[in-house]
Amino acid sequence: MTDKLKGTCSVCLQEQQLKSDKPIRHGFHARNVKHGSHGGWHTGACPGTGFPHLGISVEGTVWALGDARRKIDAVDEELARLATKPDLTWHPTIKGKPDLKNAVTLQYGHDVKYAADGRPSYNWEWERRVQAQKHRKQDLEEMIKRYEDVIANWQPQAATTAAEKKETVHSLLKRTDPRAGAFDGILCRRTRPGFANAKLLKTDDITKVTCKSCLSKLGLL
Ligand SMILES: [Zn+2]
Ligand SMILES: [Zn+2]
Repeated sequence: MTDKLKGTCSVCLQEQQLKSDKPIRHGFHARNVKHGSHGGWHTGACPGTGFPHLGISVEGTVWALGDARRKIDAVDEELARLATKPDLTWHPTIKGKPDLKNAVTLQYGHDVKYAADGRPSYNWEWERRVQAQKHRKQDLEEMIKRYEDVIANWQPQAATTAAEKKETVHSLLKRTDPRAGAFDGILCRRTRPGFANAKLLKTDDITKVTCKSCLSKLGLL
């Protein structure tokens, strides 16, 4: 088995496999943000592939900090534009996707009451767009805080080899055995109380769970 080098990506700040000193291609997900929950703007290929991993330098983090600040400026501009109650372009949905051939212009104070295309009221659509921008701003502000923190506390760190295997940590589940009574079990499979079960690493802190089956049952995979 060849040793795969791992290091922290300087942009998404997640551990990634490396190719020489840079992370291999991977997706970007803002922390604490569910995939696609804010319209998917934060997902896609991570630009961190263009920079050395964080153990070598903060070059990528400095870039990402500047990029996040520019994106916040754009969000503020869009919020200022929305505040003027501009006309909003809206598309009907065909089979779950926006029908881009058909555009409807929603005008403030001029809702069409019985349009058969499912169009929302101006205020509903306006509110949705404002909320999306506010969520985006929150996510960016959180990333900016993390970037500033990483830059302030940066220290060089060697890449690690993925071959060092860590022991699996399961999600703790309180179970009851007809004879032995209550015992600490694990989520991914039924275990019996006793020595074999006691040796398994388990935790009730879901951020420390590494078992894939447990994570999948928790809906985190
Ligand atoms: Zn990354
Ligand atoms: Zn498990």
